[in-house]
This record gives sequence, C-alpha cells and structure tokens, in this order.
Amino acid sequence: MIRLLPDHVANQIAAGEVVQRPASVVKELLENAVDAGATSIKLVIKDAGKTLIQVIDNGKGMNEIDARMCFERHATSKISAAEDLFQLQTKGFRGEALASIAAIAHVELKSKEHDAELGTHVIIEGSKVVSQEVAVVPNGTSFSVKNLFFNIPARRNFLKSDQVELRHVIDEFERVALAHKDIQFVFINNGSEMFNLPASNIRQRIVNVFGGKTNEKLVPVQESTEIVEIQGFVAKPEYAKKSRGEQFFFVNDRFIKSGYLHHAITSAFEGLLKDGTHPSYFLYLTLPPNSIDINIHPTKTEIKFDDEQSLYAILRASVKHSLGQFNVTPVLDFQKDMELEVPYGYSGTQSVKPTVEVNTNFNPFESMQSSNALASRIGSDISRGEFNPFESVKSKSSAGGSSSGSSFQEKKHQSGGWETLYEGISDAKEMILSSNHYIEDELVTGSLFDDETTSSHTAQQTYQVHKKYIISPIKSGMIIIDQRRAHQRILYEYYLNSFSVRQNASQQLLFPLSLYYTVYEMELLRSIEKELIQMGFSFDEITNEKIVILGTPESISESEVSIVLEDLLNDLQDNRPDDVPVLHDRIAKSLAQSLAVKTGTYLTDKAQEDIVNSLFGCENPQTSPFGKTTFITMKVEDIDKKFM
Ligand code: ADP
Ligand code: MG
Repeated sequence: MIRLLPDHVANQIAAGEVVQRPASVVKELLENAVDAGATSIKLVIKDAGKTLIQVIDNGKGMNEIDARMCFERHATSKISAAEDLFQLQTKGFRGEALASIAAIAHVELKSKEHDAELGTHVIIEGSKVVSQEVAVVPNGTSFSVKNLFFNIPARRNFLKSDQVELRHVIDEFERVALAHKDIQFVFINNGSEMFNLPASNIRQRIVNVFGGKTNEKLVPVQESTEIVEIQGFVAKPEYAKKSRGEQFFFVNDRFIKSGYLHHAITSAFEGLLKDGTHPSYFLYLTLPPNSIDINIHPTKTEIKFDDEQSLYAILRASVKHSLGQFNVTPVLDFQKDMELEVPYGYSGTQSVKPTVEVNTNFNPFESMQSSNALASRIGSDISRGEFNPFESVKSKSSAGGSSSGSSFQEKKHQSGGWETLYEGISDAKEMILSSNHYIEDELVTGSLFDDETTSSHTAQQTYQVHKKYIISPIKSGMIIIDQRRAHQRILYEYYLNSFSVRQNASQQLLFPLSLYYTVYEMELLRSIEKELIQMGFSFDEITNEKIVILGTPESISESEVSIVLEDLLNDLQDNRPDDVPVLHDRIAKSLAQSLAVKTGTYLTDKAQEDIVNSLFGCENPQTSPFGKTTFITMKVEDIDKKFM
C-alpha cells in the first residue's frame, strides 16, 4: 500500500541532504540574509554551532504570513517559473533550506519589514509550530537555530570535534564574506568576536579576513572578455602554502569549486612554486547567468559552464600575465645546498699553509720576542681567513721554539691514545645496542648540531655516506643508520616526553618574534597553548591575528620557529584530534617531521655521533615515528661472506 509521507518526515529526509553539519546551516542562513538585501549581517555561534547558530540581518524582513510560509517546503520568494532558473540573481531558489532546518532543530524567527509597525516572532521545533506572535522586534530578520539534530541522535553523534566543525563554519563564513564585500559582517564565536569586517573593496576584504600581512602578498588579476570578466588577486608564489586553504573562485558572487579551473591557475604558476605548496587565489568571475548552470545539487558547490575550455585559457593567460607584469620572478634558492649552511665545511676547501719563518739564529733568551712575532703572524692569518689552529701548532713546533714545545707534546699524547679510545667507544656502543639504560636525552637539546670541536677524543667513530646514512662500526660488524629517520625518532620521543615526563626548557629570544596567522589558525594555536608551553615555547599575546613569541624550545632556532609552527598548523588544520594522547602524538610527529635533518645534509662528526647516541637512548630506536626502519646492522660474517 503506497502512502504519501507526512510533511515532517519528508522534511527530515530532505534535511539529510541539505544539512550535514552546523556549517550547512550557517551557509543557508547567511545566504538568505544576503538575498534579503542586508547591509549588515551578524553571525553568532556557540560550541561550533552545535548549541546555537544565530544570524541577524537588517534586510527587508518578512511579514506575518511569510514568516510562517518560509518554513514550508518549496516555499520561496525568489523564483516563480522554470525560466527564472537561468537568470538567477539570488543565492537561494529551492525553498528547501528553512523547511529542512526546522525539521531537525529548535528554530526561533524574529522578523519585521521596515515599513511595518510590529514584527513577528515564530518558534518552530521539529517542523511543529510551537508559537507565533506579534512582537516588537528590530527591522530585518533574526534566525536562531538551537540543538541541531536534537531528534536525529545518530547525526548528532556523527558530528566532529568543535575544532573541526568550527573550521567548517569559518570556511562557509569566509566564502560568503569574500563574495559580498559591500556587506558588513560580524562573527561572534562563544562570546568573543572573531571577525568584524566593514563594507570595503575586495582587497581590503581579503586582508580583513586573512590578516594584515596578506596585503603584501597579493597580485591583482584583471581581464575583460566577451565570455567572462575576471577580477581579483593571486598570492605571490613565495607565499604559496602547504595547505590548500586559500583558494577561492566566485562566479557571479557565488563561491564555487572547480578542479578544472583550479588547474588553469596551477598551470599559470608552473615553475614558480616549491614542491608541495599550493598557490592562494581569490578570483571573481562574472559571466552571463544563462551561460552557467548552478542547479546541480543543493549542497554542491560545483557548477557547469557553457564554454569551459575558453574560460580555462583566459583564466590561465590572465594569471600568467599578472605574475609576469608584477615581476614575480622565480626564487632561485629552492634547492639550497645545505652544505653551504654548515659552518665548518671542510670538504673542498683548500687550506693554505702558513709560511714558516725559521729563525736559524734562534736564541732561547729571545724566546719572548719570537713568540710575539708568531702571535702576530697568526693574527694576520686570521684576518685573511686562513687560520688553521692545527697548522699553527705544527709550524710552531717545527720552528723549534721551546715556548711551543709543550703544546706539541700534548697533541702527540692525545693522538697516542687513539686506539684505546676507539676500542672503548665501540664497546660502549655494543652496550648501548644491547641495553637501554644509557639514556642521555640532553644530547638532543640544543647541542645537537653545534659544531664544537672541543670534543676530547679525536678518533672518528662514525662515517657519513651520501649525506644520507651514518655508518658506525660495532664489535660484531657495523650499523647503518638513516640520518633523517633516526633524527625523527629522537625528536619525536623528545617532544612526546615533554608532554608527559617533563616540561622542556625554553630559551628566551633576544627580540620578541611576531608571527601572523589567520583567525582560524590563531584559534588552533590557542587550542594547543598548553602543549606549546610544555614543548618549551613561551609567548606574550595571542590575538585574532598574531602571536608574539618570547621563547622557543632549546632545540628550535629562531629561524625555524615560523616553519615549525606553520607545518604544525597545517598538520592540525583539517583534523585536530580531540583525544589528548592522539593530539600529543600528532604534534610530536609534526615537529619531528619539520625539524629532522634532511637527507642530503652534511653532518659534522659531532652531529653524527649525537644522532647515534641519542637514537639508542630512545625507547623505540628501530623505527621512525612513521614506522620506517631507522637502522640496519651488518655482521662481519655477512661482510666476510661477500668476499668469499
Ligand atoms: P530559498 O532561499 O531557496 O528561497 P529558504 O528556505 O532558504 O529558501 O527561504 C525561504 C524563503 O524565506 C525565502 O525565499 C525568503 O523569501 C524568506 N527568507 C528567508 N530568510 C530570510 C531573511 N533573512 N530575510 C527575509 N526573508 C527571508
Ligand atoms: Mg535560502
């Protein structure tokens, strides 16, 4: 027996399509306010919209009848005939949104038309009208949506963490706000103001949304052809981000996604971007309404274009043109040779021997004088940048001066102990390998790559090959360590420990460092404030757009801070775990990933040693935090076999 579904059931089913999460409600309500001709729109949410979503506008408002009608399915004032679909000037046209929202939440509507004396107050819960009264309310409309999915527990439980849902809400807010620069937008989240965007031009709106530092990044794009008019900005290639966050296409003031057009932009950026980074863009296309079809799906942001190929070509050409015109030339040091950054890069440098002046008429009683002469020689060598302490020891001793004899003796004594030192160390390594009680995590902090040539032993125990592996002899053969993976393991455990075992020490910066982020990124930073402090960061203020760093963990240099934090934000961006241990794990992995030495980096002996020692001080030295093998061992027997 076939029956027509009751309205509230039909609405609930439709709601499944239209309302997936709080952000969907935000989008629908904001768009309705825009369609109502508002010049000022305020969004208020609590608990990422799970508890409350309110949109207040100063638009044209509704009369008593419309205030009731708007909750009916297929009730719309925006189109009346099928032809209208091809001349759309409004965001909405389906008349489904409010009916769907009212089916799955507690909704309160207050509305008044500008020339009316009194307004209307409607309360509707799960499609049932609870009350409708005449009321004294301001001009315009206010929708409050509370307890979303109250009657669909499965849906409610399916919602992600507040951080994730907030991210979606901000995404929708940004899209609408960027599309309508002439409207003032205010966004209040849990009682505090996240955004306050005055009516302005496009550039200013972008800057207001993404923070003051955005301005210098923008390159204007402008093109006018018969099929399309293009306006907007792309960000200079050097500001390309690791996340795909800031990529916006608007078609006739509507945010859309298009993989095809996106490709046009990335191909215009070809050769200008670092691997793994994505260009930011804010592009506004105006096309004749009848040349596009937006009627695909209520929540989809894809649309169809009549002449997609020409659009592609025009877009690509105009972005390319702008990048060229504004002299955005490729940055040359993408593949910076890391070796150049190692302070003591001995490899390939020709050391010049100081010329030795031998005083054949050496008189021990004039020794004071001669050592003065030597000192001045060394001084001039230093100023010519050719000073080599070991050479000078040799030259001193060959000069036969009694004053330098003792230091030569010392030197000889040290190298005399070479074999014994070496043996002792390889034994110690065996011990490290077999037991875990040799924990010296201090090695990781700060000192890791300080090339202090003060180490007391001169015997080399590790060898770096291909700037990738560290080979270290052990009694039974040798171990081969992947430098990057090993370092990742060390850093991972170091930061993980800072969350549980002890708080890391912080090193004060000489000058406070201000870093600028988007509102959402600042929100993320705030949500991991405790973890940042435990890791050894200290900071002053966290506002909506900047953080002032006062101190960093000892293992992070000032120049690395911004990279580390950006990577971290990027890793947490789309899915910040709620579960604390998972969050800690994710943060530690992120830091390990961004701070670990890269393959291709030259390591000093000291750095190699530190990696070896610290690795075997780890709880799980065998694998990197990402599950990759960190080292292999090769027994002498196995090597012997190869020679058979
Ligand atoms: P649609 O936007 O597709 O028309 P909705 O369900 O979102 O469908 O809204 C139904 C109708 O309610 C709209 O067509 C409009 O007439 C009215 N309406 C909704 N929101 C507002 C508002 N903020 N101000 C004035 N009228 C509104
Ligand atoms: Mg609508």
